[in-house]
Amino acid sequence: MREIRHWLNGTAVAGSSGRQLPVWDPATGEQQAYVVAATAAETANAVAAAKAAFPSWRAASLSRRAEVMFRFRELVDANRKEIASLVSQEHGKTVADAGGELARGLENIEFAAGAPHLLKGGYSEQASTGVDVYSIRQPLGVVAGITPFNFPAMVPIWMFCNALVCGNTFVLKPSEKDPSVSLLLADLLRQAGLPDGAFNVVQGDREAVETLIAHPDVQALSFVGSTPIARSVYEQGTRAGKRVQALGGAKNHMVVLPDADVDAAADAAVSAGYGSAGERCMAVSVVVAVGAVGDPLVAAIKDRIARITVGPASDPAAEMGPLISREHRDKVAGYLAGAGEAEVVVDGRAAPVSSGPGFFLGASLVDKVPTDSPLYTDEIFGPVLSVVRADTYEQALELVNDNEYGNGTAIFTRDGGAARRFQYDVNCGMVGVNVPVPVPVAYYSFGGWKSSLFGDLHMYGPEGIQFYTRSKVVTSRWPDPASSTVDLGFPEVR
Ligand code: NAD
Repeated sequence: MREIRHWLNGTAVAGSSGRQLPVWDPATGEQQAYVVAATAAETANAVAAAKAAFPSWRAASLSRRAEVMFRFRELVDANRKEIASLVSQEHGKTVADAGGELARGLENIEFAAGAPHLLKGGYSEQASTGVDVYSIRQPLGVVAGITPFNFPAMVPIWMFCNALVCGNTFVLKPSEKDPSVSLLLADLLRQAGLPDGAFNVVQGDREAVETLIAHPDVQALSFVGSTPIARSVYEQGTRAGKRVQALGGAKNHMVVLPDADVDAAADAAVSAGYGSAGERCMAVSVVVAVGAVGDPLVAAIKDRIARITVGPASDPAAEMGPLISREHRDKVAGYLAGAGEAEVVVDGRAAPVSSGPGFFLGASLVDKVPTDSPLYTDEIFGPVLSVVRADTYEQALELVNDNEYGNGTAIFTRDGGAARRFQYDVNCGMVGVNVPVPVPVAYYSFGGWKSSLFGDLHMYGPEGIQFYTRSKVVTSRWPDPASSTVDLGFPEVR
């Protein structure tokens, strides 16, 4: 069986712990490879490699660092097919969906290539007589990223491109469920001219993460994953004195007002609810149907579900693949079994593909879901769309704002005033107006509110550059020796 290795100092290295973690093929249900979970010592070696590479990478000119990003962008683009097929082999998403993930990742690389513009400081001439004041942004040192299974290429790219272009060196701990693409990206960075040691990968789980959190040479942690782990990484990391941004889970509501175009809203709900089998942190998992739109909307969604082709990524006709693991598939199916008084309109367990092989579950639709049902309160992270009925806009807004999570939300309406009111009122970090999956473009930043993000700065874009740098302010005078005197008073500027 194939071992997926660590990446240390510019080369792939085998693990030594003997603690094997399986990598499944979600489409067949069979194990296809394994990682050997990194020990604390192996993780510390990766940090040491990154620490040793930091002084010279930091000293590389901005143009040189940007050039590496340009080259990396060209290499990722040239290897799109290979990367996308690797993602779908281990994750299970369709190749087209993996290609979409990569397209968004490419945007982030392009943004990083232009980052020197954002690394400019301010300059105030003559702040006092003969005194100039200016600010500069400097890298932090060794920074680490811990990433989830659902975007094994894009989420690491969100982090390491900005971190590296700012002059930091990086240790990535990817998801142990689909780890291969991290090594391919590492090799492309090497080919792009990144010096050895500037980017390292440790495969593994909690042990590696806890080592990174506790390690005194790791200056900052970027985390993306589920809310309980995000909260814990944030708390432990900040207690250890590190800068932390920890993005967590979601329960994204799509509010459909009575005046919305029912077909367009149904298309959007189905695309955003079942794309990537619902395993997206920006997936729509609750449709809030306001007033009379409920019945026609549920009928239109049901109609579309019947036409979704579920199958393995190897089938070019497949639009939706399997879930990541058997355990997760069974957990998601369990929500349907426990639907209680909610109305199961389409039960994905009955779809032929759900009886295996592989970790498939057909698309499911549950209507009239009570807000105390686990279907509503939990992040399900699977192809289960819940519909909650609301009488008014105010009730719908209250649902979104009372929810524990605040990642993304969307409103569907033809009323510009209502949409503007929603954008003003709603407590979520990312809002779509007739756009169901409002993932910001790379030159904005990504992040939710409430239990969807712990920390102060959102990920990628301008806030990513702020996260990976700290500012220094220099007050400078070049006196004429002839005018120099002793003055014990506090420096004044006027
Ligand atoms: P996860 O929390 O299980 O794992 C995320 C990372 O944390 C992995 O690298 C994993 O190895 C590590 N990890 C797991 N348990 C740990 C522990 N006890 N201590 C330390 N590290 C641990 O998440 P997942 O299942 O891989 O991904 C799905 C989750 O990620 C969903 O909740 C989804 O909403 C969330 N997500 C959020 C965003 C966002 O931007 N907010 C984006 C993608 C995914």
